[in-house]
Amino acid sequence: MEFQIKNHRIEGIPFQAARWTGGTITPIIIVCHDTASRLDPLSAARYLQDNTSKVSVQFVVERDGHVTQLVACNKRANHAGKSTYHGRQYCNGFSIGIEIVNPGIMQDAGGGKARAWYGKTFDIEEYGIREVSTREHGSGFWMPYPEAQIEAVEAILVACVNKYSTIKDVTTHWYVSPGRKVDTNPLFPLGHLKSRAFGREDPAEDEADAAAAPVEDGDATVSINVPGDTLNMRRWPSFNPNVLAAIPHGTRVPLIKTGTFNRRTWHKVVYGGQEGWVVASYTE
Ligand SMILES: [Zn+2]
Repeated sequence: MEFQIKNHRIEGIPFQAARWTGGTITPIIIVCHDTASRLDPLSAARYLQDNTSKVSVQFVVERDGHVTQLVACNKRANHAGKSTYHGRQYCNGFSIGIEIVNPGIMQDAGGGKARAWYGKTFDIEEYGIREVSTREHGSGFWMPYPEAQIEAVEAILVACVNKYSTIKDVTTHWYVSPGRKVDTNPLFPLGHLKSRAFGREDPAEDEADAAAAPVEDGDATVSINVPGDTLNMRRWPSFNPNVLAAIPHGTRVPLIKTGTFNRRTWHKVVYGGQEGWVVASYTE
């Protein structure tokens, strides 16, 4: 699947102008969301086109990969609400939003079913629903995204990044509104999609995740030990240009995973709301 953007719209897909839009923006990031809605085709798209909550978004992606555009890529849409990206507030003013049709967080309904917030239950086995808990999402039952849906999201990301050289990152609602939002869900392949969007075929993030052992103790931490200096936290465990953040000496950070890559031990930790890798020998 390949999309082209012309006049700030993806060609060849339906454009249904949303009611709630604003002025011109320069997109710096793309924010991915779950609709936390019913799965019926176009139901979320219709809602986001016109509603009394004054919400809107640039793109809606159905489970079968069908995409509807509601707002031009260079116009403000109301998708992120109160949010911050690396110190910059109100992401609607500098982001493109993608709403991905998914029921959102679900609870165990018994009898092999999970229940969405709006009452509908889904068969756990039929939908491949998994019980997962993360620091950012809390614990719940989550529905995976079908391949066709992820391929469509990928095609939107690639088209946007190719068109707008100003776009520097692809992120999620939970990342820009921590504690307030949990979308996209923990099964969302953000690392994979970022790699594709920015033309890095290297699946290093996913591979490292698979090769490393999770830390059993959920409260485990390590302390950064680089006196007078900072330690680079990296997107995947290598010294390629992949630095996410510089962690000051003495910072204590949650430890998620440990793995050995190229005969060096690395820790996967959480810092500044992001997960990344640090060299284990610089921690204690
Ligand atoms: Zn959202």
